[in-house]
Amino acid sequence: MKTISSEINIEELNASYANLSPLERLAKFYKDFGDKNILVSSSFGTTSAYLLDLISKSNRKQEIHLINTGYLFKETLDYADDLSLRLGLNIKTIKPDFHHHQYTSQNRTWEKDPNLCCSVNKVLPFEEIKKGKDFWISGLIGKQSHSRKDKDIFERNGDIIKFHPIIDIELEEVKSYLKKNDLPTNPLFHKGYESVGCFHCTAKGKGRSGRWKSSTKTECGLHLPSEKNMKAFAIS
Ligand code: SF4
Repeated sequence: MKTISSEINIEELNASYANLSPLERLAKFYKDFGDKNILVSSSFGTTSAYLLDLISKSNRKQEIHLINTGYLFKETLDYADDLSLRLGLNIKTIKPDFHHHQYTSQNRTWEKDPNLCCSVNKVLPFEEIKKGKDFWISGLIGKQSHSRKDKDIFERNGDIIKFHPIIDIELEEVKSYLKKNDLPTNPLFHKGYESVGCFHCTAKGKGRSGRWKSSTKTECGLHLPSEKNMKAFAIS
C-alpha cells in the first residue's frame, strides 16, 4: 500500500525547509500538509513551551498528546494544565494499559528493566496513537544529546515522516524566546531539574544528565527507530 512516506522525497523536503525559521517551517508545513493526519506529543518538560507556542500560533486546532505514564510529577501535570489554558492548546491525555501499568508498579520495573517499563508505559500507548498518522511533529533539539545531534528536519520512521522543526535551534535561543514571550517553563526547572520525565527516573542535573542517572539508558524509546521498539515482552 502506498503511504505518504513512500511518495515523498525527503531530501527535497529537507532542502526546501532548511533556511526557514522554526515558525516559518511550521507555517509552510501546515500549508503543504495541513490536510494530512498529523501527530504531536509533548512531555511538558523544561523547553516544551517553545514548540507548543509555535504550534499554537500555526494551528490552534492541532491535537497535542500527553502520555501520562502514571509516574509524572504533579508539577508537570499542573504545568500542562496551565500552559494549555494560556496557549489554548487542544490537549489529549493518553495512559498505558491499566493492568500492564499495575504490573510495573508492583514489580518496580523501572529499577530492574527501565526499557521494559518505558515500553509499557510510554512506547506502547504512543504506538497506538501513531497508527494511521502521516506525520509526527517532534520537539527534539539536536544540542540536547548525542543521539539527536545528526538528525535532519524531516526523516522517515517506518510509515510515518518525522518533522523536527526546532532540531537545529540553540538552547540559548529557546531560553530567550521563552523570556521574551513571557512563557513559563516546567516549575521543576527552577528546582534544579534541566530535563524532566518520570519521578522514578529523574534527578536534578544539567542538560539531560539527571535522566536515568543510575543506568546507561538515555532515551525513553519514543524516538528510536520503530523496529527497535517492537521487541517482544510478556507480562503475566
Ligand atoms: S521513565 Fe522510568 S518510570 Fe517512566 S516509564 Fe520509563 S522507566 Fe518507567
